[in-house]
Amino acid sequence: MDNFDVAVVGAGFAGLVAALAAAQSGARVVMFEGGARPGGNARIAAGMFIATESTDALHAYIPDGDPALQRLFVETYPQVIDFLESHGLPVGPLEPLGNARVVRPMALGAAGARGEFVDRLIACVHGAGVRIESGNPVMNVSPEEGAYRIDPQGVRARRVILATGGFAANPALLAEFMGPGAQYLRRRSLDGASGSGLRMARSLGAALAGDMAAYYGHTMADCPLDQSLWQPLTPYFARLGVLVDRTGRRFTDEAISFLEESNPQAATRSAIDRYWLLFDERIRLGDGVDIGIAHRLDWLEAAQAVGAPVVIAQTLDELIECLGVDGVDPHGLRAELAAYHAAIRQGTSAALQPPRSAQPLVLDRAPYYALRCVAGVTATCGGVAIDSLCRVLPAQGEGKVIPGLYCAGVDAGGIFGRTYGGFLSWCAVSGYRAGLSAAQSA
Ligand SMILES: Cc1cc2nc3c(=O)[nH]c(=O)nc-3n(C[C@H](O)[C@H](O)[C@H](O)COP(=O)(O)OP(=O)(O)OC[C@H]3O[C@@H](n4cnc5c(N)ncnc54)[C@H](O)[C@@H]3O)c2cc1C
Repeated sequence: MDNFDVAVVGAGFAGLVAALAAAQSGARVVMFEGGARPGGNARIAAGMFIATESTDALHAYIPDGDPALQRLFVETYPQVIDFLESHGLPVGPLEPLGNARVVRPMALGAAGARGEFVDRLIACVHGAGVRIESGNPVMNVSPEEGAYRIDPQGVRARRVILATGGFAANPALLAEFMGPGAQYLRRRSLDGASGSGLRMARSLGAALAGDMAAYYGHTMADCPLDQSLWQPLTPYFARLGVLVDRTGRRFTDEAISFLEESNPQAATRSAIDRYWLLFDERIRLGDGVDIGIAHRLDWLEAAQAVGAPVVIAQTLDELIECLGVDGVDPHGLRAELAAYHAAIRQGTSAALQPPRSAQPLVLDRAPYYALRCVAGVTATCGGVAIDSLCRVLPAQGEGKVIPGLYCAGVDAGGIFGRTYGGFLSWCAVSGYRAGLSAAQSA
């Protein structure tokens, strides 16, 4: 039987960084990837390494996240960017993102197509002497004489790092943790995230951490979308518009999250199957309003080209009428928009139910638009409990850790909640930390 210091389960961004950090620290590392090739979701990501200026600012934005992990995230980010760059993985300059946050983009490939960056990382991992076995999913990890046995590979490792990407692709787990709204979720990430890391960690006695119903995701057009369009067609500007359900009523404070990640979650929590994003020409053009991440294509044209269900009208009355045909109660919608606009004009939108806490915009510039939407899940936020060395914490035994077991990336729960601070950065930070911790202790 092969013996290793460290085995990494899952070769997404977190697993690859973990393997590289562990191998560079002198550990003998093996990696198993269930999919046909390593890389995971980072290949199709926008490639933005989001950071926050301070732990306090991050916690203010994500109050339901674990402060210790948030500290790890903020303090390790600069080191991890240096680590990537020192391996010939270029990262662009800091750009402001709002909400005391900044972003540094991968400087290889384009948003939505980051294969080049990921392939260079994989080359570094190979170069560090790591064996990567693709198409070889791990089914079980069990303790054996002070180490772990990994099956069906039949390999032994003193330390194991779980990095299988969470459970966004497992409908049963989504339903277990998110309730009936999970049935309406559309997946906005690759199909590898089957929850196997979570299952294996639980079978070894791990605790869960974070809000298991929370996820990072986006509002998506209610039409078939090729994965190459998930990122470019994301309506990041949804936080500026008005979101209504079939009754015509608003169901969330559209503007509380900077990347609009709280909007699909609100739909899931209320078990809403479809919802409509209403916006006007000013929002579409980003004229005098901060649309956040700019689209590198004409969003409307691209959406229409793939048959996204967009209604365009010259007046709000006409829009309401068209949405009536699409299944939205016109009386409810008319009343809702009247109350919404009146509150904005009076400066009382924060007192609406639900409130509109930021960027209150009256829809008053024709043409008017409505996109029929579904909630899309990219990555789950609850997961395996870890400490700030990325050691897995047991469900029982406060102050203890599960010896030799580590977890990184989306598999590790608790750092984010209903709002989110950047999974690529978190994967890099937690992967780096897990790799170093596992190698040093091995
Ligand atoms: C369209 C899109 C755009 C995005 N843009 C950004 C962005 O700009 N900034 C940002 O911060 N985040 C972004 N994200 C999110 C980010 O890319 C992902 O959350 C991150 O890449 C996840 O990395 P991971 O390693 O935790 O998991 P994954 O990428 O899911 O990798 C996990 C790997 O484990 C493998 N695996 C699963 N089970 C097993 C098993 N039993 N045995 C072996 N292998 C297994 C899977 O096949 C997979 O390859 C985006 C995501 C998408 C989809």
